[in-house]
Amino acid sequence: MNQHKPQKTDEEWRASLDPAQYAVCRCSATEPPFSGKWYKHKEAGTYLCVACHAPLFASEAKYDSGSGWPSFFQPIKRETVNLVPDESHGMHRTEVRCAVCDSHLGHVFPDGPKPTGLRYCVNSVALDFAPDPHSLAP
Ligand SMILES: [Zn+2]
Repeated sequence: MNQHKPQKTDEEWRASLDPAQYAVCRCSATEPPFSGKWYKHKEAGTYLCVACHAPLFASEAKYDSGSGWPSFFQPIKRETVNLVPDESHGMHRTEVRCAVCDSHLGHVFPDGPKPTGLRYCVNSVALDFAPDPHSLAP
């Protein structure tokens, strides 16, 4: 077992996340499209895992996919996220999980823009945001 991972019990996750975050991050729920607070967010900075605050996506990789969920063409590093085959709901999809705490983030689809051709479709409630300090300068 990897001792670097902040492993929590289910009870601890329930206590540290709000009900919507818990449903998405720990039970792989999906928020309704166009409902999330980061969908139209365009500030410069870094999107973090809401559960463990690991940096996941840079604002430079965010684009408007029209899907209703925040979409990125790549994570900060390939090893930032784990990709897991997901056969649920009668579909062949690839689930995106935080590599640090194993929280569900969303799914990745092969219909994204260049340079990767990938669309990381992520739930807003699974993300927190840290603005780029340079963008706050007067
Ligand atoms: Zn995490």
